Amino acid sequence: MTSYKDYTIATLGSHSALQILKGAKDEGFRTIAVCEKGRSEPYTSYKVADEIIEIDKFSDFFTIEEELKKRNAILIPHGSFVSYIGSEKVKDISMMHYGTRGILQWESDRMKSKEWLVDSGLNVPKIFDTPEEIDRPAIVKFHGAKGGMGYFVANTPDEFYDRIREYPEEKDYVIQEYIVGVPVYTHYFYSPINDELEIMSFDKRYESNADSIGRISAKDQLDANIRTSYTIVGNMPIVVRESMLPDFFAMGRRVVEKSRGLEGVGPAGLFGPFCLEAIVDPNLKLFVFEISARIVAGTNPYVDGSPYTWLRYDVPMSTGRRVARELKEAVEQDRLKEVLG
Ligand code: ATP
Repeated sequence: MTSYKDYTIATLGSHSALQILKGAKDEGFRTIAVCEKGRSEPYTSYKVADEIIEIDKFSDFFTIEEELKKRNAILIPHGSFVSYIGSEKVKDISMMHYGTRGILQWESDRMKSKEWLVDSGLNVPKIFDTPEEIDRPAIVKFHGAKGGMGYFVANTPDEFYDRIREYPEEKDYVIQEYIVGVPVYTHYFYSPINDELEIMSFDKRYESNADSIGRISAKDQLDANIRTSYTIVGNMPIVVRESMLPDFFAMGRRVVEKSRGLEGVGPAGLFGPFCLEAIVDPNLKLFVFEISARIVAGTNPYVDGSPYTWLRYDVPMSTGRRVARELKEAVEQDRLKEVLG
């Protein structure tokens, strides 16, 4: 019988690695941070990594995979992992890695993820198939845009064609109804080990310059010809109205249930941390515009646990630590295979 002490938790030094590694150490695992040369200081300074392995670029990850295997490491993929390695290449990982096989291809493809959300009975913003159909505010999102950079809002077809000229190289985009409301990102954790869905926390994003234009008057905004963009800078905690919690639980559960039949996804479906990104309108109607099927950086304010995890656990339980605890329980019950991709 193996012990969890025989395993090491490894992740790329970016995104949510600090809490993943800290949480793994708190649960008693050894840890490795794989860092880009010259960018390892956070991981040494905060003492979350027992070992640092440096590579020139994250995209060189596969050159050190054998080394990680020798250390019996379990890799935890996160958002930066997906964007640097590419969701397609995630399939090629041959070392032990946490999470549902095949699910990252669903979350990274906007049309596929929309289909999954709609089939789960979730309310999603309307998609305009052509610019001519724009009859209300619409947000134009480029595929593979990093952290909302370069998105723009258009109210009419003319406005769309006017703005799109600034991006001559961009051919791959989606035109989505712009929902006027507040963003709420729900952080879930589904455990197949004890068949439970948890809500770990909620966040909203701190986006430049969407969160800064309100600091100047409308006249100054017009004079300066400021255009809204959503470049993410950080994340802020939120606690939602308690009466909304049953709806958030129900949405998460439906997405987990629907994931079980998705093409290329194992029968276990989605498990571990995931996030539904929604806008809540003034009638408290929820519009889910994206799903992330892995840990999100919005959980980072909760290294020390959230108000919700404090209700349930008697230790500070970050999402990173929850992952480590799941792996520990899986090893102890001889079910590790069930949570590896
Ligand atoms: P991610 O890092 O999650 O992949 P992204 O670059 O795909 O981010 P989105 O999360 O799709 O970007 O959107 C960026 C921001 O734009 C959101 O945080 C939200 O503020 C705003 N936004 C996105 N879609 C809508 C919508 N349909 N209505 C209103 N605001 C929206």
